[in-house]
Amino acid sequence: MALDRTGASRMERTPRGPQPLYAPGADLPELAWEACPGKGVDYPKLYLDHYGRLPDSWLVGNIVATRTGYAADPAIRAVGASGGVTTAVLIHLLESGRIDGAIVVRQGVPTPLDASAVIATSRDEIIAAAQSVYIPVSVLDILPRLEPGKRYAVTLVPEQAAALRRLQASGHPQAQQIEYVLGPYTGTALYPAAIDNFLRSHGVRKDDPVTSLEWRAGEWPGYLEIRTKSGKVLRSKKVYYNFLIPFFVTRASLQSMDFANEFCDLSVGDAWSPKFEAEGGGHSVVVTRSAKMEAVIAEMVAAGQLALEPEDNLKATEMHGHMIDFKKRGGHIRNSWRRSWGRAAPDYGMRPEHVPASRKAVELAISGLFVIGGTGLARGVLRMIPERVIGPVFNKLRLSWKNLSKPTKRKGLADFKMIVDERE
Ligand SMILES: Cc1cc2nc3c(=O)[nH]c(=O)nc-3n(C[C@H](O)[C@H](O)[C@H](O)COP(=O)(O)OP(=O)(O)OC[C@H]3O[C@@H](n4cnc5c(N)ncnc54)[C@H](O)[C@@H]3O)c2cc1C
Repeated sequence: MALDRTGASRMERTPRGPQPLYAPGADLPELAWEACPGKGVDYPKLYLDHYGRLPDSWLVGNIVATRTGYAADPAIRAVGASGGVTTAVLIHLLESGRIDGAIVVRQGVPTPLDASAVIATSRDEIIAAAQSVYIPVSVLDILPRLEPGKRYAVTLVPEQAAALRRLQASGHPQAQQIEYVLGPYTGTALYPAAIDNFLRSHGVRKDDPVTSLEWRAGEWPGYLEIRTKSGKVLRSKKVYYNFLIPFFVTRASLQSMDFANEFCDLSVGDAWSPKFEAEGGGHSVVVTRSAKMEAVIAEMVAAGQLALEPEDNLKATEMHGHMIDFKKRGGHIRNSWRRSWGRAAPDYGMRPEHVPASRKAVELAISGLFVIGGTGLARGVLRMIPERVIGPVFNKLRLSWKNLSKPTKRKGLADFKMIVDERE
C-alpha cells in the first residue's frame, strides 16, 4: 500500500487481519510485486543482496552472535514479552541519538481490540508498546508518514522484515530511513476473530465492550488478560490459550518459512529451557545479525543495561527446534500442497534438500487439524467448551503430540540444507 503512487490505497481491518484495499486507478511499481509477502520474497536473492552471501545456517540465517538473557532494569524486564530486551534496545537507540523515533506495534490502538503501528519518540511511548501482539498488524504502510531526514528503528515480523529489506535493496527512499530492524522470532499469529470467540466462550456479551487486552500480562511466560466495561477480568495462561491456534492460525503463519526473523539486525525470542523456566523472570534468546547492532548490544552489556550471556548458535536452535521445523519443512510442504491444488502460495525461491516421507505424514495430521479447526462448525463447538476444560486438555494433547512427533520433526534438522531454485 505504501508504494501506490496515487496514495489512495489502504489496508482495511477485517476479522482475518489487515487486507489491502486497492483504490480505483492504483498505480503500483514492479517493486510492490517483488516485495509482496503473499507472492513471496525471493530469499536467496535477498540473502545475497542484503548480506552478500547465502546463510551460514539454513535454519536461522546469518548470525553475528547469539546470547540469552534479559534487560537489566527489572521494570523493563517485567513489562516485556520475554526479557524486555527489544524494549531496552529501542530506548537505548533513541536516547543515544541513533534514531529519532521507533516504529512499534501497540495493542489498544485505535480501540482496545485493535493493534496498530505507532511512531514512539519517547522512552514512555516505547514502554507502552512493549509485549507481543499475536494478531496480524500492517506496519510498512506507515512508510509514507516518515518525516524526511529523520532516522528510525522498526519492529517487524519476518515477512515484513524481508519485504522492507527488498525495498531498501532497491533504493526505496523512506525504507532507507530505517536504520535498525528488530523483530520477534515468529511462530504463529491468530486472526482477530479468535478474541471474539474467546470472549463469547467466556460468556461475555456483545453489549459488554472490552476496555483493555494484554497478550503477555504478568510473570513470564504470562497470560492473556482481557478486561470488560462491566468489570469482568478474563485471564488465560499463555500455555492454555494456545488452544486457539488450530482454530484461528493465520495463513501467513502457515506459509512463512522464516521463524528466526532472518532479515532483522536484532531477532529476539523466548528462551524456552527447563533451566530458565525454573528460574522464573523473563528470559530471551537474542541474535545479532549486523556489525552495527552487535556494537549496540556490546555497548549495552558493558554498561550493565542488558544481562546477556553468550550462547552457541547451533545449541540455541534446540530451544525452538519444533517451530524451526514447522516453518522450514512444514511451510514448504504446505505451500507446495496448496500449489498442487491450484491455490496461491508464496514462492521463496528455495526448497529443503530432502523431506522424508515420515515428515510429510506428520504434516498431514497437522494440516488436517488446521483445516478442520478453521471451519465455522469447529469454531462454534469451541465456543461451547469452557476454557478451564479445553485449556489444560489441549495443553496435554499438545505436549504429547510434541513428544510423539519430536523424533520425526528433529530428524535431519542438524544438517538441514536448502536448494536454491534456478531462476532465468
Ligand atoms: C506473532 C508472534 C509470534 C511469536 N512466536 C514466537 C514463538 O513461537 N517462539 C518464540 O520464542 N517467540 C515468539 N515470539 C516472540 C516473543 O513473543 C517476544 O516478542 C520476543 O521474545 C521479544 O521479547 P522482548 O521481551 O524482547 O519484547 P518486548 O520488550 O516486549 O518488545 C516487543 C516489541 O515488539 C513489538 N511487537 C509486538 N508485536 C509485534 C508484531 N506483531 N509485529 C511487529 N512488532 C511487534 C512491540 O511493539 C515491542 O516494541 C512471537 C512474537 C509474535 C509477535
